[in-house]
Amino acid sequence: MLKVYNTLTRQKEELCPLKGNTVTMYSCGPTVYNYAHIGNLRTYVFMDMLRRVLRYDGYKIKGVMNITDVGHLLSDGDDGEDKMAKAAKEQKKSPQEIAAYYTDVFFKDFARLNIGRPEVIAKATDHIDEMIAYVQDLLQKGYAYETSDGIYFDIGKFPAYGKLSRLNLDDQIAGARVEVNAEKRHPADFALWKKAEKNHIMQWPSPWGMGYPGWHIECSAMSRKYLGVTFDIHTGGVDHIPVHHENEIAQSEAREGCRTVNVWMHGEFMLVDGGKMSKSLGNTYTIDQLHARGYDPLAFRYFCLNAHYRKKLNFTFEGMDAAQTAYDRLLEALYKHKQSAEDCDESVLQSYKDRFDAAVNDDLNLPLALGVLWTMTKEKPSHKLYALALEFDKVLGLNLHTAHPPKEDDAPVPAEAIALAEQRLAARKNKDWAESDRLRDAIAALGYTVADTKEGFSLHKK
Ligand code: AMP
Ligand code: ZN
Repeated sequence: MLKVYNTLTRQKEELCPLKGNTVTMYSCGPTVYNYAHIGNLRTYVFMDMLRRVLRYDGYKIKGVMNITDVGHLLSDGDDGEDKMAKAAKEQKKSPQEIAAYYTDVFFKDFARLNIGRPEVIAKATDHIDEMIAYVQDLLQKGYAYETSDGIYFDIGKFPAYGKLSRLNLDDQIAGARVEVNAEKRHPADFALWKKAEKNHIMQWPSPWGMGYPGWHIECSAMSRKYLGVTFDIHTGGVDHIPVHHENEIAQSEAREGCRTVNVWMHGEFMLVDGGKMSKSLGNTYTIDQLHARGYDPLAFRYFCLNAHYRKKLNFTFEGMDAAQTAYDRLLEALYKHKQSAEDCDESVLQSYKDRFDAAVNDDLNLPLALGVLWTMTKEKPSHKLYALALEFDKVLGLNLHTAHPPKEDDAPVPAEAIALAEQRLAARKNKDWAESDRLRDAIAALGYTVADTKEGFSLHKK
């Protein structure tokens, strides 16, 4: 019996799918205007963990994930430029090219982290008609109104607004910045559709002239299309609770007249060095960058699994070193079981399976489940225990079948080599080729070769 924590009710609940053995699930996907950072990817490791536990428990899944390629403005409210349009301008590409490139990289990261793709991947720009129809419906039902710059949801018509975050609307408004749009009936009313200015890069014809959708409407329209009126689980990161998911609830429940999501699940944030990840601090690492520093992407997955998804996870390179070492040791510890011809008592196997299952079914307690696996590796070597570990790997996704004997040298790339490679990168940016060559030699003297990559560099032992 799987119990999961429902953000809506603030408690763990037994999962009871609406359609027998099939779980219907929607996951907010990425806005594809830049590389996904390790924080974003933590949220998708969480989504994947949930999908794997569901499958391990014998459920089928119909999962949908959107790709936001229009409508996500610089603030989660309705101001600022469209993130896609801004990236397109900066990189002198079309928004379509930007979206295609970053979507491709995103799914490459999925593959490297053993994150399975949801059954339906839905691009916002492929669903403009559905969004327009949805907005028309809300207008017809009296939940929306037109202004000179768009169509807005009328929060005053939806008294339950705020039930997910449990934020009092008046408090939210008191804290809100000075209102710029005087035509809105209520400061928290949000855009369903925006009318486009002439030079706006992405726009479509609509009953309200040329325009583009608001960010939130895509998730309501696409979940309705693929999963029906009410579905079982909706996932996302905790930052989505107060605006994006409140708005989704308002749109969907207003249109359908009933509850549309049974369980809301949210992954906590990843911090870096105890603080927020941000471009200006230069601490938004990508999987490619971790790989370049000598880490196995699956060691990052291990790092994520080792913390409960509802707890903040602080990323540091010391922590990442520890995860890489633990992951290597785990594969080594399993190797002696892989090689063993010995049997193992059924009761011993059963007791490990019971403990593992209890952990994963208790709101995805993967840290505890990993602990069970570690204890198991310390048993007398047996191929039966190895087979059980492979069964557990259906949930863990750590490629435990690659269990191997200890490597001669699996030490991470030394900090000195990384520092030199970073200096070399800076020298190359300044076109200081002589300095760049000197640094390459210095790196070689430490026993490493450096290669240039799109992201920067990668270091390999000679
Ligand atoms: P975005 O591409 O900005 O829409 O974000 C994609 C996903 O990453 C969303 O589900 C966010 O909630 C999540 N996310 C953003 N930053 C972090 C972070 N620091 N830690 C964990 N998840 C995050
Ligand atoms: Zn969403």
